[in-house]
Amino acid sequence: MRKIPVPMKVLSAALLPVIFYSCGSKVTDLEPTPPAPKPPVYEIPKTPQDTLAFIYSRTLGLDSTAVKAMDENNLLVDGDMTLPKSTLAQMFSTFPLVEAKDSSKTIKSPYVVNNYRVFKIGYHPGQTAPGVESALYSAIAHWNGILILNGAEFNFMAYSDPGPSDIMFYTSSYLLLDVPFVVSLPTSTGQPGASITLNTTYLQVHNITKDQLVSAMVHALGHILGLQHSDRKMTSYYDAGNIGDLESVMHANFPQGPHTKMFSKGDTAMVKRLFPAPKWPVQSAGQIKDLVGIEMTAGNATLYYTKDGKVVRGTWNNAVGPMTTYEGRTDIPNTEIAEIACSGANRFYAYFTNGWYMNGEMYKLGNNPIDGYIQAHPVPGQSMATFIGTTVKKDNDDCYYWYSDGTYSVGRSGYWAQYSYGNTFTVPTGKKISDIKAIASDDEGRFYFWYKDNTVSRSASLNHSNPEGPVAVKIN
Ligand SMILES: [Zn+2]
Repeated sequence: MRKIPVPMKVLSAALLPVIFYSCGSKVTDLEPTPPAPKPPVYEIPKTPQDTLAFIYSRTLGLDSTAVKAMDENNLLVDGDMTLPKSTLAQMFSTFPLVEAKDSSKTIKSPYVVNNYRVFKIGYHPGQTAPGVESALYSAIAHWNGILILNGAEFNFMAYSDPGPSDIMFYTSSYLLLDVPFVVSLPTSTGQPGASITLNTTYLQVHNITKDQLVSAMVHALGHILGLQHSDRKMTSYYDAGNIGDLESVMHANFPQGPHTKMFSKGDTAMVKRLFPAPKWPVQSAGQIKDLVGIEMTAGNATLYYTKDGKVVRGTWNNAVGPMTTYEGRTDIPNTEIAEIACSGANRFYAYFTNGWYMNGEMYKLGNNPIDGYIQAHPVPGQSMATFIGTTVKKDNDDCYYWYSDGTYSVGRSGYWAQYSYGNTFTVPTGKKISDIKAIASDDEGRFYFWYKDNTVSRSASLNHSNPEGPVAVKIN
């Protein structure tokens, strides 16, 4: 016999408010009294399944009609989110119950994640339909862009390997669900939901564009963080800042409705509230010539990495901003880093003067347990001695490498000549190639050269023709 995974004691506590209301409505006094506010009506659970839905709705304050059975072990919440019944039972024992008479009270969501974290999304390459992988990378870049720009210390990255993942990306067919993704909600400890599943049936029935797929993925990643639909009633559950905002990416119809653009004002407010940045001191990264690398993330935040393990978040021509620390490897000092690059999905590559590179996260540059430290293979005739800078193009993850003889190559992180090499580039009048200290690229596809004299130029072309600048970089 199956046991209901909820302690009986707690269960009766859940039912108590309902019983209370059915008694309290009895008229005992004929004296004229001001009309009592109408108590909210709750359905009384009839089956264990109903009971779980009821507990969920009382725990998070979500309308229990939004909770349905998905299968034997899981609930379907509001059409496109899933929650294991076991997690619900856990939540029920961990979080305070909201009594029926207090249903209008703001309910604190257990999903607020306000410490800096990188959530790794794993997927199996080759098992996703064409265009899905790049749509996932785009959606991640959209989230990282809004998070980093708003000072939020949180971002996503993707791994084409399930090993180190917090979240897995799957593909499946849900014949009865007319939603592009089915997403699991966070656990009772506030960790992100464990999976995002692309519904291939939806893709077959609806001829959606690539942009719509990216938008749907952005919405799905919001659910991974525990965000629910913005078109729910303001009082019905915890308002992170975007409830009632019809322009939010968390609107239940997004992106099928008329609104298909990305983040709204409500979304930005929500991000600031849920993921507030730590109060890092605003400091200068110092002289450009003394840095180990510069790179731009989604949203065009510019990260300046110093030799002594500090990183300043600024803009392309401002190296003064919130400063924190970064970690590299224990077996080789950070002072040996020659340049840093960042992929569209927020994977960071740091190249050492010995010709090896590590890959990892923004502030943990060596934190990839799968392929942490690898030998790079520059272009024939080039070496680390002739290498001057690198970046990754955000929309296709091609890696670019520039050399002191005035050429650049296009390849991958391990093999720098994979696509082409020997292409030439120029520097603005008054600059020498040897003046270049670091190179990066932005969301718009522009390439940036930072020079040792604290200036920067940018160009839409790989060969750096018709550049804007050089302009001074603010360093104090
Ligand atoms: Zn949704």
